[in-house]
Amino acid sequence: MDNVDTWEKFHFEADSDWGKITPSKPLPCPKCSDLRIEMQQADFIRDPDAEWRRAERIQNSPYIEDLEDKIEFESDLTWDFGECILRLKCGKCSLSIFCIGRYRGHRQGYDSLYGEVFQDSFLLYPRFFSTPPNIIDLPKKTPQEVTNYLFNSFELYWCDTASCANKIRISIELLLDYYKIPRTKPTGGKIALHNRIEDYLKNKAGKKRLSQRLLAIKWIGNEGSHLDTTRRSVIEAYKLLEDVLVKTFGEKEKKLKEIEDGINANKGSRN
Ligand SMILES: [Zn+2]
Repeated sequence: MDNVDTWEKFHFEADSDWGKITPSKPLPCPKCSDLRIEMQQADFIRDPDAEWRRAERIQNSPYIEDLEDKIEFESDLTWDFGECILRLKCGKCSLSIFCIGRYRGHRQGYDSLYGEVFQDSFLLYPRFFSTPPNIIDLPKKTPQEVTNYLFNSFELYWCDTASCANKIRISIELLLDYYKIPRTKPTGGKIALHNRIEDYLKNKAGKKRLSQRLLAIKWIGNEGSHLDTTRRSVIEAYKLLEDVLVKTFGEKEKKLKEIEDGINANKGSRN
């Protein structure tokens, strides 16, 4: 579950003159999945008074719980705030990506002689990507509708975790549509997602583990409707969903299943 931590705390770090900007984890290209995303240009906008007010608002926001986003505006380690725009480019397919976010000046390091923190850098936290990175791998055979909602969730992840969780929840509804699990009762009433997942289990004997995963994702999706979803919970839901999609639509899984079915049918070697 390494990804849980790395996406949850994802940021860029810039040196003191913004000459070198490095992502905290390799950023996959949304188009070709290559990891050679390069910085092309960075710009930043400073309005210290507005930023102090914004920092205060972020600090009190019920929606943003991660510490890095809650700018430590009272800390001596933070000495500057602002908005920034980064232009990124894929080194393989040349896709240009714009990222808008916030930065804060950060002081770090320890001098053994003076005992002072002394090294200045900037930490940049994305709030928007023009084309966001895929937070999980989506197998090519994943139904297009499901993929579309997940792309949408990747956009929202950076600015609104509750809405992001909601999109993930919808993607499960669509996954169950793909399996032709009814949305409505014969009498016309709507079937709750929880019951639809149970129906999926009934129809797909042996899929208990996948059903349990879908249920766990559903709980996180439900939290999205109540505006109390954390980035960590969303990332955990993504990891469970990724496993469901890989097991259902992944090529590797399909090939293994063919081998497994063949051997079981022959009660021995497939040759
Ligand atoms: Zn690319």
